[in-house]
Amino acid sequence: MSGNTFEVTNPANGEVITAVADCGPKETEQAIEAASQAFLPWRKKTAKERAAIMHRWFYLINENIDDLALLMTTEQGKPLKEAKGEIVYGASFIEWFAEEARRIYGDVIPAPTNDRKIITLKQPIGVVAAITPWNFPVSMITRKISPAIAAGCTVVLKPAAQTPLSALALAYLAKEAGFPDGVINIVTSSKASEIGKVMTESALVQKFSFTGSTKVGKMLMQQCAATVKKVSLELGGNAPLIVFDDAEIEQAVKGAIASKYRNAGQTCVCANRLYVQDGIYDAFMEKYRKAVAALTVGDGTVADIEIGPLIDEEAVKKINRLMGDATHKGATVTVGGKPHAAGSLFYEPTVLEGCNSEMAVSKEEVFGPVSPIFRFSTETEAIQLANDTEYGLASYFFTQNLARTWRVAEALDYGIVGINEGIVSTAEAPFGGMKESGIGREGSKYGIEEYLEIKYLCVGGLG
Ligand code: ADP
Repeated sequence: MSGNTFEVTNPANGEVITAVADCGPKETEQAIEAASQAFLPWRKKTAKERAAIMHRWFYLINENIDDLALLMTTEQGKPLKEAKGEIVYGASFIEWFAEEARRIYGDVIPAPTNDRKIITLKQPIGVVAAITPWNFPVSMITRKISPAIAAGCTVVLKPAAQTPLSALALAYLAKEAGFPDGVINIVTSSKASEIGKVMTESALVQKFSFTGSTKVGKMLMQQCAATVKKVSLELGGNAPLIVFDDAEIEQAVKGAIASKYRNAGQTCVCANRLYVQDGIYDAFMEKYRKAVAALTVGDGTVADIEIGPLIDEEAVKKINRLMGDATHKGATVTVGGKPHAAGSLFYEPTVLEGCNSEMAVSKEEVFGPVSPIFRFSTETEAIQLANDTEYGLASYFFTQNLARTWRVAEALDYGIVGINEGIVSTAEAPFGGMKESGIGREGSKYGIEEYLEIKYLCVGGLG
């Protein structure tokens, strides 16, 4: 080890929490080598043996939830209640995939002639390299590691430099749970591109899984081309949330607030564009403005705080830029609209009305507590506007009309559609995007397929 370290800071007050190892290419290669050595023995364990260790990890995370939540809030900023919610959600992937490990079925396929049998086996793909973001410091990690290790793969993972402590805590508990050395390897680093290069170019790595920005995802996908790695990408979103005239207003307000303001607006499935139909506009907006204005802002460790700080200065700058662009082009701030007095990384929960497609807020992820509101007249118009983006991760709409529910659900070009619901993520359901939002699905019965190869056995000479 080089002995180099980098500091981790608390976004609520800028204080340094601690320093962690600043790994470089050499340490990454060592971790890949360790994962490669551990692969065969891990793959040879029965699914039940792998599942037993995973269950122990799941229990240990739940037993230590208070400490893990405090750690997460300290390095990431989200309110403690949300941190606990994320840990429950994150741990649920370990439990789910421990169960799925025992259901990795192959097929026996009717052959075209009687002298042969066609059989498929599903086998772990090999060493997996993964890179995760800071907005969900636990669940983005477990969502990738759990299906991989359940399938029999081993993993090298680089967490975001802003939130390495949650990752290290998870790894500590994994060791307690009894994972053999080399099965789960965490590489903390401030030099993301150097680590990414080693991971994507290594011939020992068979699969690369990334959650982060579309820009970086595209680059890493390109880097994976040279060794033809299987890739999973969870990239940016630009989620529309449509409130139709026939929506149930309270439900729509509650769903929109939950979708937009979770994690201070810093998720790739946060509503990014709120489309409100003419007939319900005044009634919905009156309640929505009140609900946004009532959100409490402050240090996430303080009880009843709903909106914590943004992750860093870049995030604040981005919001200031988007707000400036929108108001310059005619949008009106009706709630909030400026940095919050709680500290330099806090921003007021904001409602921005009168937005249109010319504004940058309609094209870029806000990633902050700002609701850009767009008014529309017809269903056709709403669908056209909602789909007018290169992204296709999450979308939401609110209506009480059954025929409209099916029409709109089928017409939206998104991997995830929340209908009368603002929070849709769960281990049982497939999470993932269409278009430039990504490749592959995480969670659900489909999630484990990303870490498996199908092998076809042709048994001949049986005639
Ligand atoms: P975000 O806006 O969420 O920070 P990024 O794509 O920049 O999105 O970061 C997501 C993850 O990708 C983080 O772990 C970050 O360190 C990593 N990352 C950023 N740039 C690169 C790169 N050039 N190569 C590999 N990983 C990168």
